[in-house]
Amino acid sequence: MTTLVVATSNPNKVREVRELLAGAPIELRTLAAWPQLEAPEETGRTFEANARDKALYYAARTGELTVAEDSGLEIDALGGAPGVGSARYGGVDATYPEKFALIYAALRERGALDSPARFVCALALARGESVLFEARGTVEGRIATAPEGEGGFGYDPIFFYPPFGMTLAEAGDRKGDVSHRANAFRQLRAFLAEGLSGFVSSWPQALR
Ligand code: IMP
Repeated sequence: MTTLVVATSNPNKVREVRELLAGAPIELRTLAAWPQLEAPEETGRTFEANARDKALYYAARTGELTVAEDSGLEIDALGGAPGVGSARYGGVDATYPEKFALIYAALRERGALDSPARFVCALALARGESVLFEARGTVEGRIATAPEGEGGFGYDPIFFYPPFGMTLAEAGDRKGDVSHRANAFRQLRAFLAEGLSGFVSSWPQALR
């Protein structure tokens, strides 16, 4: 079975990606198998650039087919912030309740408490020195009146998803049907099933 390294050390993302690729005849490995590898600095100005950089960095060091993703929350009334800086918003040590408080303060100042917002996920698949495939997934919503829900992770409690009438932290497993990550990894699944034909000979048949 072909190995696919999911190059993220975020256990929440690993859990979601495992579910999204469940049933594919691939052996998923995480960075836990390479504990000596240090994370690269994320210097890109776009989700895409960061995803590519991470995929190439880990593909070179693991020698395996590697998928990396970069994701975050864009809030329209804040000019797209926190964006690629989502994990570091308010400082690397800021808790999510602290990040939420900063966001609500900034939105209150602008009189846009329920600003439209979206989660974005860019992924890149690499082997050796080549990027083989890239995809972007988004989910559109708005900032919730107040944080709600205990599920999910990160900014899920403040992301209100209108079709469900609740935040993604309240949506349970349904987050996996609609999320930005689901959207991007579904494209990856399709690519693995079709686009990689001839590249990894054992996959396409088995995936169809
Ligand atoms: P990254 O690990 O540099 O890609 O940072 C991504 C950050 O964006 C996470 O640490 C979260 O703060 C946020 N984020 C990404 N995806 C999600 C999600 O599905 N729900 C909530 N927050 C997310």
